Amino acid sequence: MRNELTHAAENIARSSRLVVLTGAGVSRESGIPTFREAQDGLWARFDPMEMASERGFLRNPQLVWEWYEYRFGMVAAAQPNLGHLAIAALEELIPNVTVVTQNIDGLHQAGGSTRVLELHGSIRRYKCFGGAHRGYTRDDLATQSEKPPRCPQCGDLMRPDIVWFGEYLPEQVMRDAYAACLRADVALVVGTSGVVQPAASLPYLAQEAGATVIDVNPEDDEISRMADIFLQGMGGGVLPGLVEAVRSLRQGRS
Ligand code: NAD
Repeated sequence: MRNELTHAAENIARSSRLVVLTGAGVSRESGIPTFREAQDGLWARFDPMEMASERGFLRNPQLVWEWYEYRFGMVAAAQPNLGHLAIAALEELIPNVTVVTQNIDGLHQAGGSTRVLELHGSIRRYKCFGGAHRGYTRDDLATQSEKPPRCPQCGDLMRPDIVWFGEYLPEQVMRDAYAACLRADVALVVGTSGVVQPAASLPYLAQEAGATVIDVNPEDDEISRMADIFLQGMGGGVLPGLVEAVRSLRQGRS
């Protein structure tokens, strides 16, 4: 692991275009459960597909709204962890850093990352069901008691601006994510099981385009096996040391 960490740090220190691909695992140490873990206790009897699909929303808008209220409560109480902070610190060391995340929690931005592509949207933004009116925050809807509230512009039901099962990913965000992977010299992958497409294909795309893929995950899975370098461990455990090693290498060079 020590040698692997040094090997990873050397690659990142040489990088001029780094893409960081993250999933639910990077927020685990901030206390945000993965999708399946969040489906416990009170919510265990509900099907995740019903909670995160248009069909489920139309069948029971109030229930789905309350599920997202519950998840928003967790996100609002959470702080970026050492992993998020280490990823943000890479911007001081590498000329071009793009974070491409599957997460909807906004914790990369809270941790200081400035270029974040949210593949699956954000739980902190809302749009009307038809999708014509977006960019609303919680405060914009706070005066309404109805659950879900209504769109201030068209009167349609409001929903979180999140990509649900069966929906397309935001086109421009996806295009930017592909571009970041195609031009990257290193792809640092953190906390994703690589099962949700098309996000799961991004490490492969970057690797085929010539990037060195580094995976950080406590579990040995499909991504860790395709990665050029696997650093087994939690994001908050591995990333601060990795970034410090990159800092020393870059300072040694200047
Ligand atoms: P996943 O739940 O399928 O996999 C989580 C991965 O993180 C696993 O490989 C696990 O081994 C790893 N992991 C667990 N703890 C970790 C840690 N401390 N540090 C690093 N890695 C750790 O997650 P996924 O691949 O992102 O796919 C699930 C989907 O659920 C995504 O589409 C995502 O949008 C959504 N989701 C987002 C959030 C969030 O915004 N925080 C939370 C739950 C689910």
